[in-house]
Amino acid sequence: MEDLKKLEVWFVTGSQHLYGEETLKQVAEHSTQIARSIDKDPAIPVRVVFKPVVKSPEEIYQVCQEANTTSTCIGIIAWMHTFSPAKMWIGGLKVLQKPLLHLHTQFNRDIPWSSIDMDFMNLNQSAHGDREFGFMVSRMRMNRKVVVGHWQDSEVMKSVAVWMRAAAGWNDWQNARFCRFGDNMRQVAVTEGDKVEAELKFGYSVNGYGIGDLVKVINDVSDSAIAQQVAEYEEIYTVQAPLRKGGERHSALKDAAKIEIGMRNFLKAGNFKGFTDTFEDLHGMVQLPGIASQRLMAEGYGFGGEGDWKTSALVRAMKVMATGLKGGNSFMEDYTYHFDPNNQLVLGSHMLEICPSIANDKPTVEIHPLGIGGKADPVRLVFNAGSGPALNASIVDMGNRFRLIVNEVVAVDPIQSLPKLPVARVLWKPYPDMKTGCAAWILAGGAHHTGYSQNLTTEHMEDFAEMAGVEYLLIGKNSNLYDLKNQLRWNDLYYRHSI
Ligand code: MN
Repeated sequence: MEDLKKLEVWFVTGSQHLYGEETLKQVAEHSTQIARSIDKDPAIPVRVVFKPVVKSPEEIYQVCQEANTTSTCIGIIAWMHTFSPAKMWIGGLKVLQKPLLHLHTQFNRDIPWSSIDMDFMNLNQSAHGDREFGFMVSRMRMNRKVVVGHWQDSEVMKSVAVWMRAAAGWNDWQNARFCRFGDNMRQVAVTEGDKVEAELKFGYSVNGYGIGDLVKVINDVSDSAIAQQVAEYEEIYTVQAPLRKGGERHSALKDAAKIEIGMRNFLKAGNFKGFTDTFEDLHGMVQLPGIASQRLMAEGYGFGGEGDWKTSALVRAMKVMATGLKGGNSFMEDYTYHFDPNNQLVLGSHMLEICPSIANDKPTVEIHPLGIGGKADPVRLVFNAGSGPALNASIVDMGNRFRLIVNEVVAVDPIQSLPKLPVARVLWKPYPDMKTGCAAWILAGGAHHTGYSQNLTTEHMEDFAEMAGVEYLLIGKNSNLYDLKNQLRWNDLYYRHSI
């Protein structure tokens, strides 16, 4: 993944000329200090760049336009140290295309009880200056995040960092290219969607490529590259005996390595950030890509099975948002249930393609029959995922808008070993409980495919949805079906009128 420190968020302080040079000098000094402090905070994933204090409609317009055209700038933090009459902001905010965070802070943490005078009052006005700004952003119906608190408060920095990570994911989607090998699994509904609307709304393009074009690149892979890849498998993973050199299935491991290298070459040459494939369209390929998809995902590529481009793009964005955090993000599918009344669980997995970034133990490289697709047995990585808080996220196309659904879950260790299960797996309990969580997901139209995250929170996903301007439905600890049904009804009405 790319280093997030190459990206910038601009710290923009609003004021006006009314206060005179001396006060404006202090505004600039204080703002510089705050911007530097945020920049240096270890929780902050990107660079924070101080911008000269804006005092007029022209300066505001200019900084917003510059933010739009500066490719490294992924968003703006706005703060009104003094009062900044908000009609001055209309022109700039109207053109601003980058995510906006309104940091409702003030320079001093405490009221200086013994020394507070009118000079102090003239300088430290964010309690009301930020309200004037807030009115305008609301009046213009603009999505933004509002973070409240002193800038040296670690909770405040945590919330700002979450927004920055969401902005990095959003930035990554702009002009991103996603590749579909073949089309969709036939007749499947939820993986379909409006790719034109997705490009308009999300900024990424999705285009199809014939399997023959990929097969050609796979066939060009050299024997020495395959040997090197196989050696890497043996070094990193526990390779099953029959797949090892001299083993009776070793040629299948070489076939898998060849597919992986070919796919990587194809994706690199096309500058793609993610891909889909489908077992119904593999003409000329020896196996369905198993270990290939798993390892490409671990490198940062988005992936969706059976042509699921929305989930592929979502997995990619989640990986970018989580850059540098402990834990992983994977393509996932709710596979089967454990309905023991005392311990209800979901077993999440897929035919093959679970990302080893979520593995809790050293993956084993195994070969087993697939049962569908009519191809040779595919090689795959098998492992258990770690336990702990996690979430599942799904984007569906509701016809007149996209909807992002997020379910908070808690992953648990397997209660028994699963010696015959030939795929990577994770067990989790959905919040608020199994019955409510699953019913809510189904009522919301959530897909059977998701992006599964061990290190993102619902706050990341909510911030991301706000940037994308899409409907966001949270199924979490406090959810109940009565409220959720009402949200679905009301949202339906809202989106009929607002688009
Ligand atoms: Mn699937």
